[in-house]
Amino acid sequence: MNPIFSASRWVLLRMSRAGSLGHLVERTAWGRRSVQRFVAGDTIAAAVASAEEMKQRGFLVTLDRLGEASSGARADAYMRDAVELLRAQAVAGLEPNVSVKLTAIGLAEGTDVAARRLDEIVGAAQSVRGFVRVDAEHAASLDQLHEIVIAARAKGLPVGTVLQANMQRSVRDAARLTAAGVPLRLVKGAYDPGADGVGDMRAVDAAYLQLAEVLLNAGLPLALGTHDDAILDALAPRARGVAEAQLLFGVRSDLAGRLRTDGWRVRIYTPYGPDWWPYALRRMAERPANLRFVLRSLFGR
Ligand SMILES: Cc1cc2nc3c(=O)[nH]c(=O)nc-3n(C[C@H](O)[C@H](O)[C@H](O)COP(=O)(O)OP(=O)(O)OC[C@H]3O[C@@H](n4cnc5c(N)ncnc54)[C@H](O)[C@@H]3O)c2cc1C
Repeated sequence: MNPIFSASRWVLLRMSRAGSLGHLVERTAWGRRSVQRFVAGDTIAAAVASAEEMKQRGFLVTLDRLGEASSGARADAYMRDAVELLRAQAVAGLEPNVSVKLTAIGLAEGTDVAARRLDEIVGAAQSVRGFVRVDAEHAASLDQLHEIVIAARAKGLPVGTVLQANMQRSVRDAARLTAAGVPLRLVKGAYDPGADGVGDMRAVDAAYLQLAEVLLNAGLPLALGTHDDAILDALAPRARGVAEAQLLFGVRSDLAGRLRTDGWRVRIYTPYGPDWWPYALRRMAERPANLRFVLRSLFGR
């Protein structure tokens, strides 16, 4: 990796964890403008309006209330927000679909506590014929994630999770999760895999393609979460019309449009909420060119 790129990535990832700096920036008008491209707004109403607009353009949406590690009252508030979000989508005539993170609903308080809050959200999804995707986070949380999701799925609840191709364990996890009937989104992985990593970017791409074949063979609902057109083109003959392509809001909109025209079902993962600072910095760490958008909004267009 280019040393300047890896240094700026390190700085951005460190900044994304600097809470006080984030709170300051989140309150400023220029801070807000800088992330408009990646975040659909601060409120449920803004997120639903954005989803309606995307529906008109032929895209499906999953909405995600931004929030980092929470516990207690904050985790309860995040849970209530996800429930309200599902209902608001149903009222607007949208397919209710949210993505949630276990750390935001109190994983630090224990597996049972997070599972109880997830059950509330998934129960609400069931009552409006919706779906909940539980995002995959850092490696140390994956055993708890799988335990919780497999238990919820065993109760027949509309829930799925995410598999990260950058980890060796994902081959075993794919077998266990598909045997339990858990719908999966396959991604390359945004977290450091540590000693369990499959290797460099080429190795991650190869692992992604292999896992995609395994998951296509399993015959469960499958989402391919990636902006990598080479990967999606390689999988298209088997996956288009069977799996859906998922992209992040504000990233590679050109590709989203092209995939829709080519006949893919395309779902846009759309974050919203006031706590957007760490999320926006992670997107910039993935691609330093995104910094350009921040600077442009700081100094005028
Ligand atoms: C819908 C969705 C859900 C996800 N959920 C999870 C999850 O639950 N857990 C998890 O660990 N990770 C998740 N991720 C993130 C994922 O793991 C990758 O870190 C991220 O998608 C970048 O990898 P890529 O597959 O797009 O391929 P890359 O090889 O990184 O990129 C492919 C192409 O897309 C462009 N691109 C990639 N990112 C950006 C960007 N931010 N801005 C502009 N261009 C970009 C690149 O320049 C390149 O041209 C999710 C990603 C998506 C799309």
